[in-house]
Amino acid sequence: MNPPTATTAEADVTEASPDDPTVHILWINAGLSCDGDSVSLTAATQPSIEELALGALPGLPKVAVHWPLIDYECGPVEGADNFVEWFFKADRGELEPFVLVVEGSIPNERIKPEGYWCGFGDDPETGQPITTSEWLDRLTPKALAVVAIGTCATYGGIHAMAGNPTGAMGVPDYLGWEWKSKAGIPIVCIPGCPVHPDNASETLLYLLYQAAGAAPMIPLDEELRPTWLFGATVHEGCDRAGYYEQGQFADEYGSPQCLVKLGCWGPVVKCNVPKRGWINGVGGCPNVGGICIGCTMPGFPDKFMPFMDEPPGGHVSAAASGIYGSVVRRLRHFTEKTADKEPKWRTRTETIKTGYRPPW
Ligand code: SF4
Ligand code: SF4
Repeated sequence: MNPPTATTAEADVTEASPDDPTVHILWINAGLSCDGDSVSLTAATQPSIEELALGALPGLPKVAVHWPLIDYECGPVEGADNFVEWFFKADRGELEPFVLVVEGSIPNERIKPEGYWCGFGDDPETGQPITTSEWLDRLTPKALAVVAIGTCATYGGIHAMAGNPTGAMGVPDYLGWEWKSKAGIPIVCIPGCPVHPDNASETLLYLLYQAAGAAPMIPLDEELRPTWLFGATVHEGCDRAGYYEQGQFADEYGSPQCLVKLGCWGPVVKCNVPKRGWINGVGGCPNVGGICIGCTMPGFPDKFMPFMDEPPGGHVSAAASGIYGSVVRRLRHFTEKTADKEPKWRTRTETIKTGYRPPW
């Protein structure tokens, strides 16, 4: 007999104490995806996936993560059947509560007369693969919340670009943008290609606190993104915006100046990566020299291609800031010169020159 896995052990605890239920996280990475969001999440630090899964944060409910990327049950020892069994349990109503996380876009199986675009697990009755769309049809009505992770699952992403043969779409396109879980929670979209590690873990953390009754309804914008993560543009958080304002634009890669003329879409893209860094504050996109290609946006990628051309609006705003910026830069230069000098009373003289007068 195989030893119990970490996830199985957690679940056993749940069944033994119904007053203190485990929240199961069922992760479907069988949409059209590259698993990049799964890999990205392993880099999270605030909180880390270990902190979430092991309940290292105060006030969290117990969590059991059923995630193919790291699950023992998905490996060569126990095979995939034990892993898929958790999804069957959820379908039978035996897993309560659970959060369904979907990674990858959802292809349109209706345009396929035979075969399937994507799925996982076999239907014991028919012996045929269960498509990802069918899993969504079965599980979403029973889920506490549905989380679409990464731009493919949220809005279709690269797999849904013009010319694709699958008719792929995001989870809200599939379920409907007005869809709500049985707990009244809309689909929670965490876009990014891949998703930012901490954006993902922080949103899951929020939902776990919400499940524990310790947080109000998760605030989402019209595109179903958490507002505190996607409320500002890349440009608003980019540390090259000072160059932009002063009309200093890079004309080749490797320059520390603003990258708008090289194709940066930051001024119109909602994303916090330059502000947050990638892992532990390190890395990013335009802040460290890579143009923003708008990978979090519903219009990605088609509306941003070709990536390495200057965005249409960039030309006008860069020209305006070029004129204004050269004047401002000159004026600042004078002030900078003054600010660069110490006050003259800081000298080694016999008398004090700071303006201090003794009060007696
Ligand atoms: S590099 Fe991009 S995001 Fe940064 S200041 Fe320039 S346009 Fe804005
Ligand atoms: S800064 Fe731009 S390219 Fe980088 S993650 Fe955000 S949206 Fe994507």
